[in-house]
Amino acid sequence: MAKREYPLERTRNIGIMAHIDAGKTTTTERILYYTGKIHKIGETHDGASQMDFMEQEKERGITIQSAATTAVWHGFFDQFEKTPYRVNIIDTPGHVDFTIEVERALRVLDGAVAVLDGAAGVEPQTETVWRQATTYDVPRIVFVNKMDKMGADFQMSVDSIHERLQVNAEAIQWPIGAEDDFEAVIDLITQEAYYPVDELGEKWEARDIPAELKDLAEEKRNTLIEAVADVDDDLMEKYLEGEDISVEELKAAVRRATLALQFYPVLAGSAYKDKGVQMMLDAVVDYLPGPLDVKAYIANDPKTGEEIDLIADDSKSFAALAFKIMTDPFVGRLTFMRVYTGTLQSGSYVQNTSSDTRERVGRLLQMHATSRTEIEEVFSGDIAAAIGLKNTTTGDSLTAVDHQLILESMEFPEPVIELAIEPKTKADQDKLSNAIQKLAEEDPSFRATTNPETGDTLIAGMGELQLDIMVDRMRREFNVEATVGAPQVAYREAFTKTVQARGYFKRQSGGKGQYGDVYIEFSPNEEGAGFEFDDAIVGGVVPREYIPSVE
Ligand code: GDP
Repeated sequence: MAKREYPLERTRNIGIMAHIDAGKTTTTERILYYTGKIHKIGETHDGASQMDFMEQEKERGITIQSAATTAVWHGFFDQFEKTPYRVNIIDTPGHVDFTIEVERALRVLDGAVAVLDGAAGVEPQTETVWRQATTYDVPRIVFVNKMDKMGADFQMSVDSIHERLQVNAEAIQWPIGAEDDFEAVIDLITQEAYYPVDELGEKWEARDIPAELKDLAEEKRNTLIEAVADVDDDLMEKYLEGEDISVEELKAAVRRATLALQFYPVLAGSAYKDKGVQMMLDAVVDYLPGPLDVKAYIANDPKTGEEIDLIADDSKSFAALAFKIMTDPFVGRLTFMRVYTGTLQSGSYVQNTSSDTRERVGRLLQMHATSRTEIEEVFSGDIAAAIGLKNTTTGDSLTAVDHQLILESMEFPEPVIELAIEPKTKADQDKLSNAIQKLAEEDPSFRATTNPETGDTLIAGMGELQLDIMVDRMRREFNVEATVGAPQVAYREAFTKTVQARGYFKRQSGGKGQYGDVYIEFSPNEEGAGFEFDDAIVGGVVPREYIPSVE
């Protein structure tokens, strides 16, 4: 048997979530750089991105696939060099069409970093993903990125969290300077300022806080203490007694409050300018949960119907959730799974309790930013990709053959948009059927039906961009030649509901990857005011003239 390399306390499964363009990809790349897995910092939108390894992603410059990448963190000051942390990054897409992908990622991660654009604060899609993370009880830290950008305003960003997300969040850091003058970061907890000492922002040193910022830093530390004390009795007691609160006590209280979803620490930085990302990684370790800190995942015994808590433990029977199917150009079909309990060895059999089939895991892989390692065994609390599972689809439960359980499955929404697709030849029809089947296995929000009147094949999904990409993949990967009709709203009801729940629409401004976001709010009674439903598609294209108010 292989040996567990990273104890559960030193494992973090995190996601990075953001409004599109806030800097999720850039931040992720910097994380991969600093965790030593990539050796060249790649620019996101020139096609060299490490996380986006599918063609369309490169072309469009957006992240779609929810791949999991394993990194190792040694600490900002190499403080964990001897006993590093394993950080699995589950890539969550930032585009509204792919909220289904976001949900599935949120299901299997334990904590998240919400990235904000420091010049914009909380944006519409931040609200959407934040709400989804709340649904799944995911503790979060907030990274206010782009502090170097024109218009960057850290206080405004913190205020926007209060106003728009209505949560208890306060700064644990404060930027020194903003825009072109953004140069360093104050750690409010230790009351030290960290300055970069080399070009790539790799090495930093602690210095005294500049005299003119000392009062502000102290005041912000008090604000932080008060916000955390409000939700943490131990800290409140100390605070009321007027005692000095040590760095360790404050960190521990911030951790407790964050894990309890009562508090959200806010950090400052600029991924692009290589500032703050390493400190953010320390915060991931300090404040986000490991697999043992989260509430137990629930499974059902199919025989007795009994509910069983799955708490990470290698000595228990194997239970995992397949959260992502990907077709990899080198090794074929990959099933990404999050292991909840027990361990799984390559070459062994698993029971797919969702489809009631037995399957053999050929090989197990751990995906790194630029490499993949074959592993003998995957342990509880960890994430790995299996090769060889032919009948497993997204959301399926996988368990030991002699210990069958059904894990709480993922729910997939009804598609909201559809389009007709007409294969050129009979051969294309066969290729199309095959493509549809494969793509639907990868993404259960993508479906196909037949138009009862015309007999046409209709494909349906969550948004126009998603269908665009599916059609593109059909052509590229499955060589399907077909003509494609115009997108139609598939289910008006679903659409109306979305509108009432605060619609979020996109406007296509043309050109490669040029999608501009337009956010519209309707009150339930004004639905459709100045707006033709048939011309609009959720997450799709809304003709500008129909948009009553634009933020
Ligand atoms: P995503 O859509 O959230 O993945 O955002 P990207 O990481 O692709 O970044 C969107 C754009 O913002 C790109 O042009 C980045 O170069 C830029 N960007 C990302 N981080 C920063 C930052 O810290 N400062 C500035 N000024 N630009 C940034």
